[in-house]
Amino acid sequence: MSSRAIIIAIDGPAGAGKSTIASRLAKRLGFLYIDTGAMYRAVGLWAMRTNTALDDMHRLEKLAVESDIVLSGGGTTVLLNGEDISGLIRTQELSDAASKVSAVPGVRRALVEKQREMGKRESVVMEGRDIGTNVFPNAQVKIYLDASAAVRAARRVKDLAAKGESAVPDVVEREIRERDERDSTRSEAPLRQAPDAEFIDTSGLTLEQVEEAILKFYRARTSN
Ligand code: C5P
Repeated sequence: MSSRAIIIAIDGPAGAGKSTIASRLAKRLGFLYIDTGAMYRAVGLWAMRTNTALDDMHRLEKLAVESDIVLSGGGTTVLLNGEDISGLIRTQELSDAASKVSAVPGVRRALVEKQREMGKRESVVMEGRDIGTNVFPNAQVKIYLDASAAVRAARRVKDLAAKGESAVPDVVEREIRERDERDSTRSEAPLRQAPDAEFIDTSGLTLEQVEEAILKFYRARTSN
């Protein structure tokens, strides 16, 4: 890593507001935005297309190692083996598949290696579940975003509606709780707040307030 490259690691459960805030922050600071969840979603999609069982650890690891995943367009475009899959991976089905494949140690090893490579060359805002604890434990700035399950479910319903998918809030909340449970209890790099991460509950905050809180923390951490 160049001595001036800065890593901002943003972790937290589904619907805490990570993607929106991370991409905004990256734009504002001129950093590269990396959505690591999109990478697990890409492997999940490839697994589904190749009829790979979501518990076939060996084949899933092979898919993750062989996958060519490119995040471009300021984080809005996801290419898997050259194909633009951005519009295909934001479904409930893929959220579930991503969470399942992400519990496979070999899949995580392969994707974490790619993520570390991406963060080597330039300053990045990277968001996911294990960025501050595992991918970049030495990141200069670590943020842990959370919100109540009801607020997170409501945000997810809104996101899905914007993409033309209708969803029942209670069902989405149950799905989010199940996913959080799986993400927090897996043995490999579970979702956890790093001890040196700043905790922000976004439930009652506007986007601008969250952004200001992070920028304040960022300035304090990088001022000397
Ligand atoms: O962030 P997003 O909801 O798109 O992530 C989809 C799934 O990918 C998560 O539920 C989680 O299981 C997995 N993931 C992960 N580690 C990351 C990012 C995402 O395990 N760094």
